[in-house]
Amino acid sequence: MAMAESSIRSEHSQIDRAGVEAFRRRFSGALVSRGDPGYDAARAVWNGMIDRYPALIAYCANRQDVIEAIDFARTTGILTAVRSGGHNIAGASLCNGGLVIDLSRMNRVTVDPLGRTACAEGGALLADLDAATQAHGLATTTGVNSDTGLIGLTLGGGIGRLGRKHGLSCDNMVSAEIVTADGRLLTASEHENADLFWGLRGGGGNFGIVTAITYRLHPLGPTVLAGSLVYDWRQVRDALRLYAEFSAAAPDALCADAALITLPDGNHGFAISACYAGSIEEGERVLQPLRRALPPLVDRIGPISYLDLQKAGDASFPRGHRFYWKAQFLRQLTAVAADALIDRFRCVPSPRSFFVFQQVGGAIARVPRSATAYANRDAAYDSFPVSIWNDPATDEANIAWAREMYAVLQPFGMGGVYVNNLGDEGSDRVKAAYGENYDRLLVLKRKYDRDNLFRLNQNIHP
Ligand SMILES: Cc1cc2nc3c(=O)[nH]c(=O)nc-3n(C[C@H](O)[C@H](O)[C@H](O)COP(=O)(O)OP(=O)(O)OC[C@H]3O[C@@H](n4cnc5c(N)ncnc54)[C@H](O)[C@@H]3O)c2cc1C
Repeated sequence: MAMAESSIRSEHSQIDRAGVEAFRRRFSGALVSRGDPGYDAARAVWNGMIDRYPALIAYCANRQDVIEAIDFARTTGILTAVRSGGHNIAGASLCNGGLVIDLSRMNRVTVDPLGRTACAEGGALLADLDAATQAHGLATTTGVNSDTGLIGLTLGGGIGRLGRKHGLSCDNMVSAEIVTADGRLLTASEHENADLFWGLRGGGGNFGIVTAITYRLHPLGPTVLAGSLVYDWRQVRDALRLYAEFSAAAPDALCADAALITLPDGNHGFAISACYAGSIEEGERVLQPLRRALPPLVDRIGPISYLDLQKAGDASFPRGHRFYWKAQFLRQLTAVAADALIDRFRCVPSPRSFFVFQQVGGAIARVPRSATAYANRDAAYDSFPVSIWNDPATDEANIAWAREMYAVLQPFGMGGVYVNNLGDEGSDRVKAAYGENYDRLLVLKRKYDRDNLFRLNQNIHP
């Protein structure tokens, strides 16, 4: 694409056209800059609240492009963001006036069905991995919205329906291929660069650009028992108590998330979404007490293809809408905490918004805290208000509601937070994501990115 400007202006430097053209000659992917056709589509990310104007967007076609882009970033000193799925809630993968290194066109997934592993390129989405692995009756833990970036999700941990049985996405990482700030292409595994391997399992995008991850896979499906139970608002206290008791005692193969919601008729309600990662018959047996204890308005639990299940939530997170959330981990869900939430939920300004509990624990909690950078392993739920709206005039009300819901639950929280659900919340919250693992991450950051080239993230400040 033609360069529309004679130079690229960034917050930190002015790069002349000749420098950009030299980069272009070494780069086999596409470069998009301000004024180019398609620039506005290229700068869009999932959260419509994020409206930034990068100077240059570099769509990498392969790992050599990633090396060239990092070299350009390092030698020019341009502010640099890294983008895969573009889902970061605070828009960390987009910057004003800088360079965006975009991996979305590197999305190949190859599966070794005998070895039960899959290798996903740095820009693959959850849907890409799920489709490739399910073709062999295999799967590994990913998240609940199929167009989330797989590598971004994995680098922060990776919470999903299979997590309680098989661990986080990062717990299933066998190895990673990464280009570090100095342009080296490294492999990180238990046997090679083991310190980096430790940091990549939870430490986010702090250490370089990950061009591929190999995952451990597990037999699953193609059909699982899953779906939701929807309760009337008059049942909400009983249903929340039932959810807290049932989920706390559930076997690892069961993952039960829950949400305070607005129903299609405009009334508020409560929904439990369960998935049993085992046989349909066992799942029926395990879920029977939950389904019988309190008759729901609707019981939508039944056999469903795992691939359809993984896409079932996509409509709740429409790309381009305005989003805000603020998350915290809970060790338990007490009746007092539930009451406080229920009272405050009544004021929700947008019918699209909800308050969600994402169940963790099980196999996630059995990995020692010091084994990976991901630290908050003793949590039972990740909990957060998800504000979703369309009209910029109502930004304040929707953000305020989410903050209030967070504050209402804070006295019952454990202080920790999931790094991938952090917004722009400051360094103390980053430390809350890593707890006692923070100091070790700091040592790694100083070793692999002392100049903090990769700083547009939940930053481990060197
Ligand atoms: C609708 C929605 C649903 C979600 N559901 C879940 C869920 O169920 N479970 C869960 O665990 N998380 C979930 N998340 C959070 C998600 O894990 C994070 O937003 C994650 O950062 C998304 O990665 P991405 O590549 O799409 O993001 P991007 O915005 O593209 O990137 C975010 C950051 O990740 C880092 N990064 C991304 N790719 C690379 C790479 N290849 N190399 C190095 N660094 C990289 C960079 O620091 C970048 O700034 C959800 C998010 C959304 C918006």
